[in-house]
Amino acid sequence: MGCRTRSFLSTKQEIALGKEGARQIEAEYRVDTSSADAERVRRIGMKLLPHVDQRDVPYSFKVLESNEVNAVALPGGPLYVFRGLLDMTDSTDDDALACIIGHEMGHINGRHAARQISSQLLTGILIYMGVPGSTNQELARLASGLITLKYSREDELDADRRGLSYAHYAGYDPHGLIRFFSKLERMERRVGGEKNEWLRTHPLNTSRIERATTLIENQNYRYGQ
Ligand SMILES: [Zn+2]
Repeated sequence: MGCRTRSFLSTKQEIALGKEGARQIEAEYRVDTSSADAERVRRIGMKLLPHVDQRDVPYSFKVLESNEVNAVALPGGPLYVFRGLLDMTDSTDDDALACIIGHEMGHINGRHAARQISSQLLTGILIYMGVPGSTNQELARLASGLITLKYSREDELDADRRGLSYAHYAGYDPHGLIRFFSKLERMERRVGGEKNEWLRTHPLNTSRIERATTLIENQNYRYGQ
C-alpha cells in the first residue's frame, strides 16, 4: 500500500514477451492480411504512428478473423483489431477507428501490461529473461496471460488520454471515441457486457465517458505530437 507498482520490464523484455504473445494469437486466430479492412487498419495505424509518444518498438496493425468485439495490444508493439469490432463500428468512421487504435497504442506506450502482470508472473519473466537456456515453454506460459489481461480503471483513462491526443495530432476527430462509447453502451444494454470482450478487458463507465468528453472540450492533448 502506498507503494505504486512500476514497470520492471525493459523495452527489450517487453518486445520478447509481445512477440511470443503475437505468435500465440496468430496460431489461434486467422490473420486477415488482404481485405479492405486489413488495409484500413494498417493505414490508420501508420498515420497515427508519427504522432504518438516516441518508443523504439516494432508496432504492427493486424485484423483477426473473429466475431469477438475486441482489440488487443501486446507489450512492445503488436496490435490486433478483431473483425467483430470493425463490424460494429461505422465503416466510414475512420475517426472512431483511429481513436480505438490510438487507445490501444496508449496501452503499449503507457506500458500498462507490464504493470498489470502479477508480481508472481513478473518474477517468472525476470528469471526467464536472466537465465540462459530457459525453455520456450516457459516464455509461452508467461505470454499466454497477456491476451485476456484486464486493465485497471486508471490505465483505461490513461489510454483514453493518450489515444485522444494521438488521434487529434494525426488529424482525426477525437469525438470518434465518444461515438464508439455510445455504441458500446447501447450494445451493453442489448446483449450485456460479458458478451463483449473489449468491454470485459477495457471496462466502460459513465465517469470514463465524461472524462473523455471533458478532455476533448478542454483540448487537453498532452501526449504525442
Ligand atoms: Zn483499454
